[in-house]
Amino acid sequence: MRYREILKRYWGYDDFRGIQREIIESIASGRDTLGLMPTGGGKSISFQVPALAVEGLCIVVTPLIALMKDQVANLRSRGIKASAIYSGMKSSEIVTALENCIFGDYKFLYISPERLSSDLFLTKIRRVKVSLITVDEAHCISQWGHDFRPAYRGIGELRSLFPGVPVLALTATATPEVVKDIQQQLGFATENCYSMSFERKNLVYVVRRTDNKAKELLHILNSMPGSAIVYTLNRQKTKEVCEFLVSHGITAEYYHAGLSAETKDRCEEAWKTGKARVMVSTNAFGMGIDKPDVRLVVHIDMPSSIEAYFQEAGRAGRDGNTAYAVTLLGKTDKQTVARRLNDNYPPQEFIREIYDEVCFYYSMALGDGMNCTFEFSLSDFCKKYRRPMHQTDSALRLLTRMGYIEYVEEMEYASRVRFIVDKDSLYRFRGLPADYELLVNAILRNYSGLFTDYAFIDERYLSRITKLSRHRMYEILVSLASKGLIAYAPSKKCPIVTFTRHRVLGSELRFAREVYDERKAAFGERLNAMIRYVTSDSLCRSTSLLAYFGERHAGSCGRCDVCRSQIRSAASSPTAREALIAMLSDGEQHNVAELDILALPRETMTALLRELCNEEVIMINGENIKLNK
Ligand code: ADP
Ligand code: MG
Repeated sequence: MRYREILKRYWGYDDFRGIQREIIESIASGRDTLGLMPTGGGKSISFQVPALAVEGLCIVVTPLIALMKDQVANLRSRGIKASAIYSGMKSSEIVTALENCIFGDYKFLYISPERLSSDLFLTKIRRVKVSLITVDEAHCISQWGHDFRPAYRGIGELRSLFPGVPVLALTATATPEVVKDIQQQLGFATENCYSMSFERKNLVYVVRRTDNKAKELLHILNSMPGSAIVYTLNRQKTKEVCEFLVSHGITAEYYHAGLSAETKDRCEEAWKTGKARVMVSTNAFGMGIDKPDVRLVVHIDMPSSIEAYFQEAGRAGRDGNTAYAVTLLGKTDKQTVARRLNDNYPPQEFIREIYDEVCFYYSMALGDGMNCTFEFSLSDFCKKYRRPMHQTDSALRLLTRMGYIEYVEEMEYASRVRFIVDKDSLYRFRGLPADYELLVNAILRNYSGLFTDYAFIDERYLSRITKLSRHRMYEILVSLASKGLIAYAPSKKCPIVTFTRHRVLGSELRFAREVYDERKAAFGERLNAMIRYVTSDSLCRSTSLLAYFGERHAGSCGRCDVCRSQIRSAASSPTAREALIAMLSDGEQHNVAELDILALPRETMTALLRELCNEEVIMINGENIKLNK
């Protein structure tokens, strides 16, 4: 079949897996489709294959710039024309990308949601023949989801430009309520959702109560081998816990969003290659990371939602072998979690004040400001106005949701290069120093499409193959750019604030119910669901997680801490114990197989036998059991 040939030709895989085929066929028949697949389930192929089978461009809306970059590079390496548009690109770069889509027969255009409603995009994209609109991380469109992004609502406008074009929405996390909302928000003609089980049979979920988390963490790491991730909510703590582990002879690195790109690269590399066994991190780490043999994920702080927890825990055991997801629960955790509600949704008065201060910070006059963009330093701002970082950060996010400003924190661009002159003219530039030529050749060999479009370059990789330092590479690229041979946009990291409306007075800010009250309530409910999960001791952990996502699950996992303690107590229940002793009371040898008649779960039986053996009530000899006289 056609789709399989495409899969084989571009990816070399023999067949589809999970629900990929159903999704592809649904899209091919022109129906709006929602696909629910766990992380690693293969969402990309579900839209890439059908898009390659037809004429025209597939637009992919996705919020993570880093993943966008990876996917574009990945497609280009397979000889597929792809490009990307995201916040912070120069308009000349955006024009190039869009013209390639109009004239250059491009197949994929990745775009961040914030760029969807820009005039430049909306004007040019009309002239493109679009075959499919894909919405990745589609739960972001729902305000009931744990990661609502208002900019996703711009997809509606995009749809109206291309009435006959189907939408494919994909996500790895959605409660039943969110599943419904996604389809509604995207204007599905009829509900049409495909999902697969999210059960992870090889993953053992454990909640451990402890008064000394550090000691417990050390104990867990010492009692099992293999690669691990430790999640905490606090950047400072990643460093402290890492140092603690190292001082106890466990190799570890730490990671959070505030580190430089180079440090992040180095830590990630050390962990991936096994030089460091443990990565201690905030939730900034893990997205897009595909290390199959993680044996253990420990949460030393409770995450703020089951959605987040499930994704993070799910990074263990990708290879299908047994792995553990352990949450450490301290005595005061419930109270500190309650404080998070106020940190994430500070009082409205506070938000009004922060808005005014942002305006003062940039000396913005009343009625001015529309579309002005500034670099922003949270720490500088907080120092100047004596504000707490966490609540200020939350206030800026809320102001973004309310539509007064756009605060983008995750701005970290990889370097981009484009060759301005053609290959021949490049050759005529003789007399370039040897290391210039070395670098130019390495770039030309490793990246394609450089003469028509910007390509992301990976400086760490280039530095490894050319043996040039990153600083030297930077100098060379800057000098080539000044000679007019290339265009070069070095990587940089800086949060930005853009005024999306004219300045008003803080006292005039409007708090729509759906941006503040309702979202605050939903956040509180998610926190409560998380608290219920860790404090419940009656429902199998796996069952309880799956139920949260609307999956009715047949049996208990038999391996989580709840199941184990139930098995243990069943084993010591007088009835099971007495029945077994009664069976053996004839004093004869019995084969273990005979015990099946008691119809106890296997784990219960094992626990019971071990207990009776320890108490020297029975004797076990290979397959044979006998009462001790
Ligand atoms: P997701 O976006 O759902 O997390 P990806 O699309 O990144 O997952 O796919 C995860 C991995 O699985 C990728 O390495 C991809 O190449 C691989 N993969 C996807 N579909 C198939 C398939 N049909 N056969 C083999 N490997 C596949
Ligand atoms: Mg993906």
